[in-house]
Amino acid sequence: VCKQIPTGPIETTLCDFETVEAHNDDLYTHLKDLVKTPFFKYFRVDLYRDCPFWQENGFCMNRECGITTTDESEIPERWRAAALSKVEMPSKDQRHKLPGCYYRDSDFCFLDDMSEGDYIDLSANPERFTGYAGPSARRVWASIYEENCFGMSEFNLMSSNSPNPAPVSLPDTMTGALRPDGVDNPKACLEKRVYYKIISGLHASISTHVCYEDMNQSTGEWGPNLQCFINRVAAYPERLQYIYFNVVLLLRAISRIGPYLSAYDYCGSGAHEDDVFTLDKLNKVIDIAQTVGKFDETVLFRGENATVLKDEFKAHFRNVSRIMDCVGCDKCRLWGKVQTSGLGTALKILFELDEKALNPQLNANLLSRSEVVALINTLHRFSESLAAVNIFRKMWSESDEEE
Ligand code: FAD
Repeated sequence: VCKQIPTGPIETTLCDFETVEAHNDDLYTHLKDLVKTPFFKYFRVDLYRDCPFWQENGFCMNRECGITTTDESEIPERWRAAALSKVEMPSKDQRHKLPGCYYRDSDFCFLDDMSEGDYIDLSANPERFTGYAGPSARRVWASIYEENCFGMSEFNLMSSNSPNPAPVSLPDTMTGALRPDGVDNPKACLEKRVYYKIISGLHASISTHVCYEDMNQSTGEWGPNLQCFINRVAAYPERLQYIYFNVVLLLRAISRIGPYLSAYDYCGSGAHEDDVFTLDKLNKVIDIAQTVGKFDETVLFRGENATVLKDEFKAHFRNVSRIMDCVGCDKCRLWGKVQTSGLGTALKILFELDEKALNPQLNANLLSRSEVVALINTLHRFSESLAAVNIFRKMWSESDEEE
């Protein structure tokens, strides 16, 4: 079904599949270099908060679920939590605090408050097959899709003022495609469809990585598993299309915030040439973003209920970031947190910040280092998925020729 590259416009964007395809090789090459630089590879995250929604035994027996942490002494001093907490004091915006994390009204996800957590070298802990599966993984995915239930806030939405989140209601059945009612219906509101595309695209991208770096359980060898990719992604063409959708959305956010990112201070590694390299690579990504990131954010959240709908969208997405604390595998939780934080940052850039706020001279501390790191690493994950899809396409054609 998905042997060919999809063609034509990418729904709800102003971009087409061909344009993304034409630029993804370059994009991926630059991102691959960028995420290995000192600024972008270290991420501080609290991986061991309790699941706020249900009793979860977060202990994964698989060796591949484990992660290696980095000692604080290896982190350039100015990026350590103590230094960051001085610089990154949020603006006048009020923080809504929960133990270990907080959000401001403009945020689409919960942010760690930096008092707890570990430093992780993301480049040393790649997202790939871990063996995490079964009821725990399905429950997490089901809960994430359930958050697409707009208009149901009184039942399963964590009130922004409540210190104790209400439990997420789970669907009666956890089998079959996790496609909430109404998403397929073109009459479903645009915001709801966009939400679904973001989540389903994230899910498809994670599945692509799992299948691309799969471990053969009998031989212990790593390699791409075409059948896994066909079963989980390619058999559902829209899942693949949503990966493209996420790439366009993230690139639009990067394009919007381009001047701010170019003015950001990446120094700190101690080596001048590293800092120059980082900025050079980032500027190349921003150039591509300006060509490919064609998404019109102004068509969302319009009309008389716009503010209510946006608040609801934000609250649901924040819930997704908290559901990550329920993922029962350290490495999956790490990448789940990086990516929900990266997508949340993109949504904030698209829907919360006006041109004035994006001006680096007027608003130098607009984004925290963690948000910038998450945004770029998330785009790297999606871009890498598209690169992997091309390799799967070749494998598929070759297997046809052999038959
Ligand atoms: P799942 O992927 O668990 O999907 C459950 C159901 O959702 C499917 O039956 C299907 O009906 C539906 N569905 C599947 N894909 C989509 C889609 N794109 N759109 C809409 N509906 C869909 N495993 C790893 O090996 N490595 C990882 O790094 C990793 N990271 C994870 C991160 C998170 C946040 C979560 C929740 C899980 C992660 N997992 C990871 C587990 C992985 O995503 C799968 O849950 C697991 O491999 C079992 O897959 P499955 O085939 O049973 O279906």
